Amino acid sequence: MVHKPPLNGHAKLDKSLDSLHGVGPRMLPKLQKLGLNTIEDALYHLPVRYEDRRQLKKINQLRDNQQEVFVGSVLASGETVTTRSRRKIYEVIVGDDSGKISLKWFRYRQPWLQKRFPVGQKAIFIGEIKRFAAIREIHHPDSELLQANTDLQQLLQSDPLNFGRILPVYALTEGLSQKQARKIWYRLIQDYTGFTQSFIPAEISQKYHLQKIPEALKQNHWPDESVDLWKLENGKDNARKSLVFDEFFFLELGLALKRAGVQLEEGIAFKFEHKFTVPLNKMLPFKLTDAQRRVLGEIKRDMMAPQPMHRLLQGDVGSGKTLVALMAALIAIENNAQVAVVAPTEILAEQHYQTFRTWLEKLGLKTGLLQGSMPAAAKRNLLEQIAAGEIDLVVGTHAILQEGVEFHYLGLGIIDEQHRFGVRQRSLLKHKGVNPDILVMTATPIPRTLSMTLYGDLSVSVIDQLPPGRKPVTTELFRASQRQRAYQRIRQELEQGRQAYVVYPLVEESEKSDLQAATEAAESFANDIFPGLKVGLLHGRMKTAEKDTVMNSFRQGVLQLLVSTTVIEVGVDVPNATVMMIEHADRFGLSQLHQLRGRVGRGADKSYCLLVPSEHYSEDAARRLRVMVETNDGFRIAEADLEIRGPGDFLGTRQAGLPDFRVASLLKDIRILEDARYEAFEYVKKTKQLSTKEAEPIKRELIRRWGGRLELAVIG
Ligand code: ADP
Ligand code: MG
Repeated sequence: MVHKPPLNGHAKLDKSLDSLHGVGPRMLPKLQKLGLNTIEDALYHLPVRYEDRRQLKKINQLRDNQQEVFVGSVLASGETVTTRSRRKIYEVIVGDDSGKISLKWFRYRQPWLQKRFPVGQKAIFIGEIKRFAAIREIHHPDSELLQANTDLQQLLQSDPLNFGRILPVYALTEGLSQKQARKIWYRLIQDYTGFTQSFIPAEISQKYHLQKIPEALKQNHWPDESVDLWKLENGKDNARKSLVFDEFFFLELGLALKRAGVQLEEGIAFKFEHKFTVPLNKMLPFKLTDAQRRVLGEIKRDMMAPQPMHRLLQGDVGSGKTLVALMAALIAIENNAQVAVVAPTEILAEQHYQTFRTWLEKLGLKTGLLQGSMPAAAKRNLLEQIAAGEIDLVVGTHAILQEGVEFHYLGLGIIDEQHRFGVRQRSLLKHKGVNPDILVMTATPIPRTLSMTLYGDLSVSVIDQLPPGRKPVTTELFRASQRQRAYQRIRQELEQGRQAYVVYPLVEESEKSDLQAATEAAESFANDIFPGLKVGLLHGRMKTAEKDTVMNSFRQGVLQLLVSTTVIEVGVDVPNATVMMIEHADRFGLSQLHQLRGRVGRGADKSYCLLVPSEHYSEDAARRLRVMVETNDGFRIAEADLEIRGPGDFLGTRQAGLPDFRVASLLKDIRILEDARYEAFEYVKKTKQLSTKEAEPIKRELIRRWGGRLELAVIG
């Protein structure tokens, strides 16, 4: 007999928000605008801050720079003019039996304010207290009007949703008021927290003083009177910590399983044969830096071990990652295995191909370049050679990952610029062989604690040293109107026989206007600004052969100036190029700017990066540009980037195959992350990959949260 299963807690939480009393077809789209679709989404939509309405303060008790709530009566109301800027403002003076305070509006509709605040009107006012010398004021306060004869004590008790307690303040959207939001979330918490469940094992909860999820949700939305508001607002109380721990614990469980899965597999134990690595070392015109040597040691150890390597190689632009990758490739080739190098763009693939081929040729080895855009016959031919094992190392774009590309014996896969590839690509590459070693290279440093903790399934090596003789690139910011001065700097460098880049943003290949801007700029550089000099143009819409021709001419110094859309972003290596001008620099992300800047400063000469932003740009853009001028240090830039953008965006967590966080912040909660990671890894060990009876509910919940993203894991 088949029973209909009872509606369990989760089915309730997955229900659409309009099943909530008070949310109808008009309210639903507004909540959806906040990204909230299900009951569960809304439960985890925590207040952005709180308002302390446990007691209403007297005016002389209001604290400077704090959000405060108080009752007062209007003593004066009208439009005036500021003394300094001679701007019109609307000012209302409010008082109680303890003192006075001034309320100011800088943008307002006068008739509305005049009508709302006649002398004698009593109201509750809410806002941040500012002090200018002896005068205290609030700008654009919120207010709720009161009847003149309202009894305050009664009011506090009669409307518990709005008075007499600590109130949540929610992020809003148009058409959703704070009052409505409070009503909705009050109901929500009352009716639904009971369906949420805690899964963290009891020993761990006790050890970290974690609350059960229903209690933690309730305390976050509608805290008890006794709560320490400062702790709550600063994410230091147990209620918030409990939710954060819960999220991190499940993240790290997934990562721990992945790692356990990886280690269970049998990989290739390479032998160190010295056949090609030692000759290469002798041929190199320089010595490896200590950092290069150290990470190479780490990679070698992994390659010689019988488990497959999964290593992230992190190093600032120009730190010499490619060379380390080349050495690793040679170790694999010494063992008669093939190597695949995957790059994010055709230009970069081409660049890598040149580098690898130059060295491999000298060692009598064969290199191939696989591009999506190559002619069918050439491609077929190349694929045959790869399958037959005639090619030792293949460089290419994601074309390498496609079906139909088969290796004879793939021993090592190298992925450049991790940021653009996700877990899926790594997994595809892995399946081109039988558990080959995988080395992922990235120039975008993730603050170390973060990457160690986050990329639980990757070991991390860091090249924290640049080759000797590199001079930091001098970065200068010009206003759009100072462009001539930037040209002057370029001219100076070109006259000394150096080369220059001018870069234009191209957000989408389809944005014609940007392409046009770059095309026109190239013409105007050649004809008007630097007549007589050779100028090249490079953009994403050009055919591969055309791009190659331009890149090669620039590399050989035939072209002095290269105007380009961001296709040169990664990996281009022309040491004689000493100056780069970035147009509309405000439109680039921080790590992108840093990547671009890394294209200069590659030789022994002093180099320049000239930032020319658009005429108007945002405060965030201004911060990015300031950081660029202030530092060359990739780690500091990554940290600033993380701060400005927020971690989800920075890490591209979605792309990295990680679940999103609803409450946790990778920046603020790093301590909790470390604890949760430790406990999760221990738990996976203790329960033999969650295979014990005790771990069953946790396993089910883990699969639910990670969805299909545990592909690499072995769930027992
Ligand atoms: P990355 O890939 O980390 O951006 P590359 O491997 O492209 O850096 O190296 C940048 C430049 O530095 C290349 O021209 C490379 O030949 C050179 N280089 C690499 N290692 C050293 C070293 N140990 N000493 C001097 N130059 C080096
Ligand atoms: Mg590189």
